[in-house]
Amino acid sequence: MKVARFYSPGDIRVEDAPEPSPGPGDVKIRVRNCSTCGTDVKISKFGHHHIRPPRVMGHEIAGEVVELGEGVTGWNPGDRVQVIAAIPDGTCEECRRGRMTVCPNQESMGYHYDGGFAEYTIVPAKVLAVDGLNRLPDGIGFDEASVAEPLACVLNGQELARIGEGDDVVIMGAGPIGCLHVRLARARGAARVFLADINPDRLAMSADRVKPDAALHGTDLVDQVMKLTDGRGADAIITAAASGAAQEQALQMAARQGRISFFGGLPKDNPVIACDSNLVHYRELTIVGANGSSPAHNARALELIASGAVPVADLITHRLPLADVLEGIDIVARGTAIKVTIEP
Ligand SMILES: [Zn+2]
Repeated sequence: MKVARFYSPGDIRVEDAPEPSPGPGDVKIRVRNCSTCGTDVKISKFGHHHIRPPRVMGHEIAGEVVELGEGVTGWNPGDRVQVIAAIPDGTCEECRRGRMTVCPNQESMGYHYDGGFAEYTIVPAKVLAVDGLNRLPDGIGFDEASVAEPLACVLNGQELARIGEGDDVVIMGAGPIGCLHVRLARARGAARVFLADINPDRLAMSADRVKPDAALHGTDLVDQVMKLTDGRGADAIITAAASGAAQEQALQMAARQGRISFFGGLPKDNPVIACDSNLVHYRELTIVGANGSSPAHNARALELIASGAVPVADLITHRLPLADVLEGIDIVARGTAIKVTIEP
């Protein structure tokens, strides 16, 4: 079969590999869609300390079951499935307290295990042990299902930031994650959703699809948000960009008792920002992070897509065969796509 393997930064090879066999407790799937994201770009450029090469990349996986490992029950060949990306151990103190997104022993598809840029992949027993293999609801395509993983992360972020009825929400960053945040905030009853980006072309492309109440661009973002909210500020701000400047602006534009989600992480060599602690104190602000998603978030993301609450089909702007995966990653890096999906 064909796979796309990471060897080292700048060296990803589409090559032949033997078809994998499921070990005890594993499930083998035929990958139908594996979508790409900014993380794939980061891995291709810089590698990742958890990846031991060569490693099949790809962690936004949907496909169908073709073979069951010894001892697996409840699944059949032909079952349509989606796979979690982050795999909690399910047994540590955090997991037992229901905090699977911050499991310190988390492993990942495409990092510790071969991922979805392949015709076939193995869903490890560890995934099944935490209910991380999800049956697709009726009426949802493999392409849409592959977007459930990023949507699950977005759902985790909005739960932590308590996005809800009547909120004025600012999303900073108009990539695929920003688009999903706009759609989910609407589904959760936000009053108005504003989308901001420093790249005017990407902002226009994304705004055209997700129709925010305003698309914001420019250096005076805080002023723009203050004007739009009659000086109150935004109830919630989500930074879906690896930008310390965006995080600092987010603090400035928060309304009283506003919530700020530092959804996107910062480069690890430059993670320190300036924070006026008195803003947090007097305005009673809440700053939250977000680290991936739990298996339950993935299942609920699939339901949100299947029910039509969060449409994703129109966010998939590019479909490429596995042979073109490098071009796909390059398109993501250039920011000229919303979602790029690989169809192995
Ligand atoms: Zn754990």
